[in-house]
Amino acid sequence: MSVEDKVVLITGGASGIGKASGLKLGQDNAKIAICDIDQENGKETEKEFNSKDIEAKFFNCDVTDEQSVKKAVKEIVEKWGRIDVAFLNAGIEGPNEKISNIDYQDWKKLFEINVNGVFLCAKEVLSVMEEQGYGNVIITSSNLGMSALPEKAGYCTTKGALIMLGKSIAVDYKNEDIRANIICPGPVKTPLVTSRWEEIDDPEEREKVKEAIMNIPQLMEVQEVANTVYFLASDASKAYNGETFVVDKGAQAELVE
Ligand code: NAP
Repeated sequence: MSVEDKVVLITGGASGIGKASGLKLGQDNAKIAICDIDQENGKETEKEFNSKDIEAKFFNCDVTDEQSVKKAVKEIVEKWGRIDVAFLNAGIEGPNEKISNIDYQDWKKLFEINVNGVFLCAKEVLSVMEEQGYGNVIITSSNLGMSALPEKAGYCTTKGALIMLGKSIAVDYKNEDIRANIICPGPVKTPLVTSRWEEIDDPEEREKVKEAIMNIPQLMEVQEVANTVYFLASDASKAYNGETFVVDKGAQAELVE
């Protein structure tokens, strides 16, 4: 299994799952386009990867801004001449509320980043992949795109939509040697999860929430998800198209009664 010499675009590449996947693929000599809205972490990640002899470059990209996405994709193609793999991974979690309490602006922001952002990136990279005659798209959904968690309607709904976007890419491009698969991770130790307690003012409550999260039995390390991304980015997974890969240590499989 190898990803040697593949040009890999990663959104949300400056943190968490995206960064760990960039590192894993880069260590096998893939060229990594770190696309992120966080310029500071993006530049740091580029430096860190380069110091490990990984060919990587940061591209400032807001996935919700069509012009920003077009510019990043154009610059990546100018630099490396192609995009072999697009890991469309940037996303946010949004607030925890029951549906009647969800602020419509928060709902729309979740869709803007988690769904419309992946659509805009997919649209741009698919044009490149159509022209080059092949391609590989990996989308980050969540196990919460398959099962609902209380007070997570916005996040769960966006992640459910991404599964269908991934399958739609698979179906639309099946005759053009372009495939798309979806990963559905469970909870992973990334800032998206470990920042959940940061906004809690009461120190006792903050400690309680932190302890509860850090003791989730299936809480994963980023590398565990990166290993799946590596497999999907490699040609070893060539037969998979439109498939969902639940990476959650069995959490989604269990029915709690
Ligand atoms: P993370 O550590 O917060 O990384 C996400 C990165 O995406 C951050 O650098 C973030 O920048 C960036 N980003 C946010 N909005 C963006 C935008 N509009 N354009 C470009 N980049 C943007 O999160 P993560 O945990 O690695 O999550 C990555 C993906 O995995 C998400 O789609 C998430 O829903 C999914 N996921 C995560 C878990 C988990 O437990 N961690 C589980 C299942 C699925 P800022 O920090 O500046 O916002």
